[in-house]
Amino acid sequence: MSDNQAIENLLSENRTFEPSAEFVAQANATAEIYDEAEADYKAWWHKQALERITWFKEPTVTLDDSNPPFYKWFTDGELNLSYNCLDRHLDTQGDKVAYHWIGEPGDTRTITYRDLHRLVSKFANGLKSLGVERGDRVALYMGMIPELAIAMLACARIGAVHSVVFGGFSSDALADRIQDAQAKVVVTADGAWRRGSVVPLKPATDVAVSRCPSVTKVVVVKRCDNDVTMTDKDIWYDDLMAETSDDCPPVHLNAEDPLYILYTSGTTGTPKGIVHTQGGYLTGVTTTHHYVFDVKPDSIYWCAADIGWVTGHSYIVYGPLTNGVTGVMYEGAPNHPDLDRLWQIIDEYNVSIFYTAPTAIRAFMKWGDEYPDRHDLSSLKVLGTVGEPINPEAWIWYNEHIGRGNCPIVDTWWQTETGSIMITPLPGAVATKPGSATRPFPGIDAVVVDDDGNVAPTGSGGFLAIRRPWPSMLRTIYGDDARYVDTYWSRFDGLYFPGDGVKTDDDGYYWLLGRVDDVMLVAGHNISTTEVESALVYHPAVAEAAVVGRKDPISGQAIAAFVTLRDGFEGSEAMIDELRTAVADRIGAIAKPKSIVFTDDLPKTRSGKIMRRLLRDISEQRQLGDVTTLANADIVSEIAAKAATASED
Ligand code: ATP
Ligand code: MG
Repeated sequence: MSDNQAIENLLSENRTFEPSAEFVAQANATAEIYDEAEADYKAWWHKQALERITWFKEPTVTLDDSNPPFYKWFTDGELNLSYNCLDRHLDTQGDKVAYHWIGEPGDTRTITYRDLHRLVSKFANGLKSLGVERGDRVALYMGMIPELAIAMLACARIGAVHSVVFGGFSSDALADRIQDAQAKVVVTADGAWRRGSVVPLKPATDVAVSRCPSVTKVVVVKRCDNDVTMTDKDIWYDDLMAETSDDCPPVHLNAEDPLYILYTSGTTGTPKGIVHTQGGYLTGVTTTHHYVFDVKPDSIYWCAADIGWVTGHSYIVYGPLTNGVTGVMYEGAPNHPDLDRLWQIIDEYNVSIFYTAPTAIRAFMKWGDEYPDRHDLSSLKVLGTVGEPINPEAWIWYNEHIGRGNCPIVDTWWQTETGSIMITPLPGAVATKPGSATRPFPGIDAVVVDDDGNVAPTGSGGFLAIRRPWPSMLRTIYGDDARYVDTYWSRFDGLYFPGDGVKTDDDGYYWLLGRVDDVMLVAGHNISTTEVESALVYHPAVAEAAVVGRKDPISGQAIAAFVTLRDGFEGSEAMIDELRTAVADRIGAIAKPKSIVFTDDLPKTRSGKIMRRLLRDISEQRQLGDVTTLANADIVSEIAAKAATASED
């Protein structure tokens, strides 16, 4: 069977979901915006920039492409992101809620735009009093508390560059990131709540700071009241805020001044310090947030990611606040105190837009339908996913059990590097298919190319590439222009190379197939991890699956599968046979896993993505590669022990 045959088998099962007439009638997006953007993409982006952003000085230049791949956007524009997120809303909707914040233990805070403006202004003055100047880097290492968003916006207000480090990272990972950015100040908390216990952050910060001479001051937010030792570099957030004025005029920044550095998840290798700038980034995030999530003045919008990832930067902080939306921010775990915590929040706050990751959806499926079924989720209007390809099975579950058949699902493909959503349905304007991210966002020129960079015909597969620059693109890897050029612009001449595999179907819909590094070559056929994993997840016993290619003397590579079963199923020899047959039926005998190992969990990054490269290392009995971003180290040795004794087909 050819590769195309295999994908066709998979696609033939997929239905198209049309948006309802009611939804279409009220949707922000229309089919025309695709044509308008296509006719002149620069003019279209320029129009978005002027319409959605308040500039101190409006740009006259759209794109400076004089030195590719170092593209610049809106180069003579001046603006301030905290002004756009806060000040400009004060007259019209100062008392509107910016964030309904929900602490894990059950405490809550309601923060209006006016409150947020005051807190951000005070903290910005606080940073200035600690010697932070325009262009200085500030590392932020906290849980999901309002002070994290406050600190980001305070940096943006004075032109300091923030570097958010996910609160679940170790002191080593924090130290590496502080050092790479040469951060001057660190803002942290005493601790963070996680499943009812305190994760101490200050001690980890102490260890990291002891290795980082660039740090002169550490600000500590009191959240958990756990014991901490304060040194002469340290100051309590509350003490700093008690002394500062709430008058802090926003600095007029150039559109191309840096806004932040954010390190990628580290799924494929060592994290990269991605640099984003002001004007282009804000244009990308506000425009996508408006159209992709169909936000309205009365939307209650909840992106359940962590602010420590780009999803949180773009779609918890900058996009929603610039668009003046009311957001929900939740501090804790989805399974605390019970497995229905998220559904209880949606019910209580009447959330209308909900955005999460496939890995979370697969966990909800595993936990059981009874948890969402307990709650009234009728306030929901749009659902989104991001982070990995979503298996059609999980998509359908999300549609039925969370959307209750009434909500368009936006499967959004993008990266830390792209800054904002790149391939996605626009609800109301694009029909969806379970497992497909559908079409490039207006103005985005995403294509499928072959090995030589030639555009592949509609209906075939290859590498994803982006042909023209877009406003929210990364500008470089911090301190390493050569690595920027090498990683993203060297694989294909003049094309941006994201590193993902993709196919289009006959309707021109895009199906993301996982990372190029993970593609398996079995007996001369390219097989994508996503296809085989989706075939496994179709089986009613399977909650989650990861497959990798490992060296095989006969077929070149053999497929090794790692499978988490749903509760109530047994990982027997008979189950192995059944799953192999299921894959053969769906894709073809060529894709049958040679070995299947059952495991309670899969190795994941701290953002919840499956780290197939570690499974490859295990399968080929190699020393494990970079594990600094691994969330669950114990599972790796468990899987390794099982893999060593697994039977083979
Ligand atoms: P690193 O680059 O350090 O290995 P990472 O790629 O996991 O880490 P992110 O920028 O957080 O870091 O993730 C972007 C990647 O996530 C994309 O390149 C893609 O592989 C995957 N991804 C995100 N959203 C989707 C989606 N909707 N469908 C398919 N894949 C997705
Ligand atoms: Mg990546």
